[in-house]
Amino acid sequence: MRWSQAFIPTLRDDPADAEAISHRLLVRGGYIRQLMAGAYSQLPLMIRVRSKVAKVIREEMDRIGGQEFLLPALHPAEVWQKSGRWEIMGDEMFRLRDRKDADLALGMTHEEIFGTLSLELRSYRDLPQFWYQIQTKFRDEPRPKGGVLRTREFTMKDSYSFDIDPAGLDASFQRHYEAYERIFARLGLDAVPVEASSGAMGGSDSIEFMVRSDSGEDEVVFCRSCGYAANMERATSRVEDIDDGVEHAGVEKFATPGVRTIGDLADFDGGAPGDHQIKTLVYILEGEPRLVLLRGDHPLVEQKLQDGTGAIEFRPAHPEEIRAALGADPGSLGAVGVKHIPILADLALAGRYNMVTGANDDDFHLRGVNVERDIEVSKWLDLREISDGESCFTCGSSLEVFKAIEVGHIFKLGTKYADAFGINVLDEAGEAQTVIMGSYGIGLERNIAAVVETHHDEKGIVWPVAIAPYSVAITVLRTDVPGSLEAGERLYEQCWNAGLETILDDRDDRPGVKFADAELVGIPFRVTVGPRGLESGVVEVQDRASGVTEAVALEGAVAHLSALIQR
Ligand code: ATP
Ligand code: MG
Repeated sequence: MRWSQAFIPTLRDDPADAEAISHRLLVRGGYIRQLMAGAYSQLPLMIRVRSKVAKVIREEMDRIGGQEFLLPALHPAEVWQKSGRWEIMGDEMFRLRDRKDADLALGMTHEEIFGTLSLELRSYRDLPQFWYQIQTKFRDEPRPKGGVLRTREFTMKDSYSFDIDPAGLDASFQRHYEAYERIFARLGLDAVPVEASSGAMGGSDSIEFMVRSDSGEDEVVFCRSCGYAANMERATSRVEDIDDGVEHAGVEKFATPGVRTIGDLADFDGGAPGDHQIKTLVYILEGEPRLVLLRGDHPLVEQKLQDGTGAIEFRPAHPEEIRAALGADPGSLGAVGVKHIPILADLALAGRYNMVTGANDDDFHLRGVNVERDIEVSKWLDLREISDGESCFTCGSSLEVFKAIEVGHIFKLGTKYADAFGINVLDEAGEAQTVIMGSYGIGLERNIAAVVETHHDEKGIVWPVAIAPYSVAITVLRTDVPGSLEAGERLYEQCWNAGLETILDDRDDRPGVKFADAELVGIPFRVTVGPRGLESGVVEVQDRASGVTEAVALEGAVAHLSALIQR
C-alpha cells in the first residue's frame, strides 16, 4: 500500500470523550471511528490487525481439532425460550419483530444454536466435537466503554465442546485452556487465568483470562505466593480473627441522633468501629425483599449475591420499599428480631458478638448483638468484596487486587443446554446419554484493545509483529529529490516479493509528519530512504519498540528486515 492512497485518518489530538489509552490511540491512529455509543466502524488498518488476530485464533482452534462454522446473528425467540434465556438475558438482548410479527433476537452468544445443530450427533464415537465460529455478537450493554473494549456489537470467537461424560468435558476444557494460552502468548498478551463466576451461563467451572490494565473493568484478587487468582466476583480471603471481648447477656438499644452511616457510627461516642458493626442492606430478589448483612467495613459484591441465591432479577430496594419492610430508613436498619424477611449473611459475621447494628427505629442502634444468637440467618453466603492486603485463603500471604481486562472466558456448561434441548447420543452399550457441553469465548476487538493497552508509548502504538497491520513502513524522506521515490519503490517491491507486508510512505509531506504517523500507527520497523544515505547506498532501519536505529546497505535491507521480523 502507498500511504498517499491509504485511508489512514490520523489525528494529532485525543478524542474528547476517550479515557482508555487503547480508545485514544485506536481513534488517533485511524483504526476506528464511533458510529454511536457502543458501535464502531473498523477502518482498513483495524481490519488488517483483526484478520491477523483471527488467523492466530483459527490456527490454534484448528490445532486442537476445532471445526469452523458460521451461524446466523438473527435468532428465532423459540430457541431462547427453550433454554429459558429469553427471560434471563433481559435488557442485554436486542429483540425485534419480523414482518410476520414473530419475535427475534440478535445473537449475544450461540449455545442455543450450536446446541440445536448438535441434535444430529448420534454416537459416542462422534465425540468429542469442538465447534467454533468467528462471528458478530450483539449485546445491549448498559455502559459501553473504552472504545472497542466494551461495545454493543463485536466479534467473538465462540466455541463449544460436546462430550459423552464429565471426564471428556475435563479434557476438552483443558485443550481449550491450552489453546487460549497459546493464542494470548501469540498476541503478546500476558493473560492470567483466574477463577470466575459463571453468571447467566450456568455450569460449574469457569476461568477467565485477565490482562492487567487500569482500563479494565474487572478486578482480580491475586496471591503472588501461591498463585491463587480469582475474579472479585468470586474471590475469597481468610478473615482475620477479631477480638469481640466479653459477651453481653443481651442486646441494648441506645440513641444515636443523626447517625446515618457506618462512618458516623464509628465516630459516635458509644458507637463502634466498622469491623464491629453489622451493615444491613435491603435487596429485592425476584420481586421479594431480602436482608443482606455484612460486616460494617465490607462492601457487597452483587454478583456473589446473585450466584449465591440463583436470583435472575435483583436490585437494591427503593427507599419506600425499605420503609415498608423494616419501618425505618437506611442508617438505622437492622436484622435483630426480623422474622418476616429472609436474611442472607456474609460468612465474615459468623461467630461474631458484641456487634452494633441499626434498631429499625430512626436514630437508634443496638449494641451487644450476638449474630448467631440474635439474628435468624436463613442463609450464610460469601458476599463481601476483598481488599488489597487481606490474607490469602489458601496460604495466608498478602493478597493483591488489580484491575484487569477480561480477554477470554472458558466454561464448563454441564448438561444445562443438553437437558433443555434433549441432546443425547448412544453410548457403548447403545443407551442414550445426555451430552455434556463446554463453551469458550474470545472477543477479537477487545483483545486488540488489550494489546494496545499493554503495547504503547508516548508516541503511539507498538504492535507485536504478529498482528501489526504492516510489518514495515518505508519512509521516503524527500519525494522531491530525483531518485528517492524510485529507490523507495524498488525496495517496496522487494519487500512484498520477500513476503514482508509493507506500506510505502510516498507522501509529499515533512519527514516529521511521516515519522510521527508511522510511530502513532505503530508499524514495527521503519526504513528511512533519504537522499544522503542513497548516495552511499545506505538506508536507516528503526525498530519501533526499542527505538534503535541502524544504517543498513540498501542491497541487504530486505534480508535484514526479514531476519528482524522472523526473530
Ligand atoms: P464482561 O464481563 O466483560 O461483560 P462477559 O463475561 O459478558 O464479559 P463472555 O460472555 O464470557 O463475556 O464473552 C466472551 C468474551 O467476549 C469476553 O471474554 C470478551 O473478550 C468478549 N466480550 C464480551 N462482551 C464484550 C463486549 N461488550 N465488547 C467487546 N468484547 C466483549
Ligand atoms: Mg458481559
